[in-house]
Amino acid sequence: MTEDYGIYCRPGLFELLKSIQLDVAYHRASGDWLWHIREGQELKVLDLIGGYGANLFGHNHPELVATIQDLYAQQLPILAQGSCRMGAAQLAKRLCNRLGDGVVIFANSGTETIEAALKHAFLQQKRSKFWAIKGAFHGKTLGAIQMNWNYRAPFLGLGPTVEFLDPFDENASYEAFEQEVTDINAIFFEPVLGEGGIRPLPEKFVTWMKAISQKHGILLIADEIQCGIGRTGTFLASEGMGIEPDYVCLSKSLGGGLAKIGALHIKRKHFVEAFSVIHTSTFAEDDISCRVALKALDILETDNMMARCREKGQYFLDALEKARQRFPLQIREIRGFGLMLGIDFHTQSDSPSNLLKMISDQGYLGYLAAAYFLNVHDIRIAPTLSQPNTLRIEPSAGVPIHAIDHFVACLQVFCKAVDRLDLPHITGFLAGLPPGNTIADNRDKCRPNRQKAETKRKVAFIGNFLLPEHIALWDPACSGFQSNDLQCICEKTAPIFVPNIFDQFNVQSTTGEQVHLSFVGLSMTAHQMMKGMAENQTGWMVEKINAAAAMTKEQGSTVFGLGSQTSIITRNGLRMKCPEGLALTSGNSLTVGMGILALKKAASQKHIQLDKSRLAIVGALGNIASVYAEMMAREVAEMVLIVRDVQTPKLQRWIAELKTIAPELQISIAQDMDALKDCSLIVAASNAPDPLIFARDLSDSPTVICDISAPTDVDKSVACERPNTLVIQGGLVRLPFNHDFYISGIPLKKGYSFACMAETMLMGLEQMTDHFSFGKITAHQVKKMLKIAKKHGFELGDIE
Ligand code: PLP
Repeated sequence: MTEDYGIYCRPGLFELLKSIQLDVAYHRASGDWLWHIREGQELKVLDLIGGYGANLFGHNHPELVATIQDLYAQQLPILAQGSCRMGAAQLAKRLCNRLGDGVVIFANSGTETIEAALKHAFLQQKRSKFWAIKGAFHGKTLGAIQMNWNYRAPFLGLGPTVEFLDPFDENASYEAFEQEVTDINAIFFEPVLGEGGIRPLPEKFVTWMKAISQKHGILLIADEIQCGIGRTGTFLASEGMGIEPDYVCLSKSLGGGLAKIGALHIKRKHFVEAFSVIHTSTFAEDDISCRVALKALDILETDNMMARCREKGQYFLDALEKARQRFPLQIREIRGFGLMLGIDFHTQSDSPSNLLKMISDQGYLGYLAAAYFLNVHDIRIAPTLSQPNTLRIEPSAGVPIHAIDHFVACLQVFCKAVDRLDLPHITGFLAGLPPGNTIADNRDKCRPNRQKAETKRKVAFIGNFLLPEHIALWDPACSGFQSNDLQCICEKTAPIFVPNIFDQFNVQSTTGEQVHLSFVGLSMTAHQMMKGMAENQTGWMVEKINAAAAMTKEQGSTVFGLGSQTSIITRNGLRMKCPEGLALTSGNSLTVGMGILALKKAASQKHIQLDKSRLAIVGALGNIASVYAEMMAREVAEMVLIVRDVQTPKLQRWIAELKTIAPELQISIAQDMDALKDCSLIVAASNAPDPLIFARDLSDSPTVICDISAPTDVDKSVACERPNTLVIQGGLVRLPFNHDFYISGIPLKKGYSFACMAETMLMGLEQMTDHFSFGKITAHQVKKMLKIAKKHGFELGDIE
């Protein structure tokens, strides 16, 4: 059912929510709690997001609910524009009692309040430019968004001209700004940045801002939409900082969590009379919202809520600070005032756990934490969009101390699991697993290979997981998972992750040259990618591969190799948008070359004479298999081409070509693996994600299977039941010097590489600038690449 939200409301956001299991639908709310149903059971969740600051009074505060019910019962008018709105009058007067004499303009939301402030400032001072704080947030309408450094890019220039001040840059000097102040109209500021990561403005900046405003008549416009109405312990956060704004923008908690209302307070000396007519709104000033807001302001006083925010906030802050001292490598900083707090996590980009590194590199650490707290501890908390490592805490003033204690205890469990690299504890919920009672210590298991480049010759190679269990090889911190759990987690989160660089090696050639290889992991399983192929749903996968190519180009790579399924879904690079200056390769030339060498070596080991043998090619129409067949056509007596569709016209054309290459060759075609019984040599090169060749398909006589498919085409039963069959992994290369070479997640012996990856390295060593195994390959390319391999000492690996 939640799918409808994704289909009809927010497709992009829903994908993220679903990928990390935040796609819950709440059906009830009270105080600091929300309720939802999971697997038929109603769960009570502690809400620390608190409507991003709007829930100061708690969900459905009983007195406010009673007020609104009473107001509806009185049939109070909502639509009476152009008359005297007495609710608005009372609320405005009440706000002026707090904020000083002025005029209050009402709105329906925060961003609309900001728009009103912008318009009024422009009418008042006719100066064309505004200052805003880098990283602050003021809403998303076209005018307000111009003041959001982080969100304005697509809409740049479609509203007021805004210049940014960065108070958090310790090296910034504001003198440069002071040169050109004459056309600056106003400074918009949040005293405590909310969406920007709970960052109070530094004192030094506040002093400068007050002085410059006074000296040059620049209006001070305080956006107190999130931090105002007592949340930080004073009615306005500006008050606590000694700022006296010219305009104040309020919204969020002003409506008591029930009414949608915004209010712009303008000091009377600034007010432009014409604004009363220039700025109107159908729904603003409605009696119900204004009277709910009045009641909320009553409660604020009678319940002494500001003092409660101060006291509980201090308690919360102290407890969080203690947690930070216990886990200084996980928690970087605790920030904020009152009940507006932020937990800033350290990045885990250097984590020995590849999964944790990937999550952190891609800005999902805060989201993972949010998903973990919700699914494991029934706590709702979220990072901010622009500061993804910061969790924002904004509960109601009524949040109980035991709830604070509970959260801080759970936070420490999370930090301990991050510290010990207990990935099953942190991410197990994604596979529906319980978290376990104790935290496992996986720190000794993870040994990442991340060598810094010692050469300018850089290449990158992308690969996906051949089998789900390889995820535990890629990240030993995940070894506590079963393979089906790993598959579930990988496939669920694949839409959000983009490829990431993991292992990096300086690879030596026998010529004395070296090349730096970056392995780029695409977090998808072969199974998932082949399913995408079957369903014609690979566009999004190709986009990720394109992004990886662009990223590695930017980091200095000149060659980009396509490993495992990435070459299949990009049609060996043909479907890619490749950045200029990056040479692509599927690595297929060396794969075929080494495969042929391997087959010949194995045949001689088994005393199988090539010119008397029948060779079966499984998946014969594929790019690799067809060149393999072409190059073996004159070496064997007979060939059986095994294809999925024997009727395809392509097949007859292909047979005719083979006949011109080797007129003596006996060629037959088959669809069934039964045909393998009469073959002593078999090349397995299908794209199938699951095994195709079983013991029952083979005879007992000496047979060699050269398996160049990944994942393997050969079922385990062959090894058990056919002792006379030698299965070799075709495309394996032994590197001349790097005996410790090992790419996490690829199940090969140390010092070995798949031939396709080796081709990528060789292109780097040769400084090749054109695509090589790109699209369909030729026998000529295979021979050329074998020659290059020989030159650099890249040899066929042991075949068994
Ligand atoms: N200003 C600040 C400081 C905010 O935090 C927000 C919303 O989060 C806004 C403006 C925009 O308010 P709204 O979402 O109601 O448009």
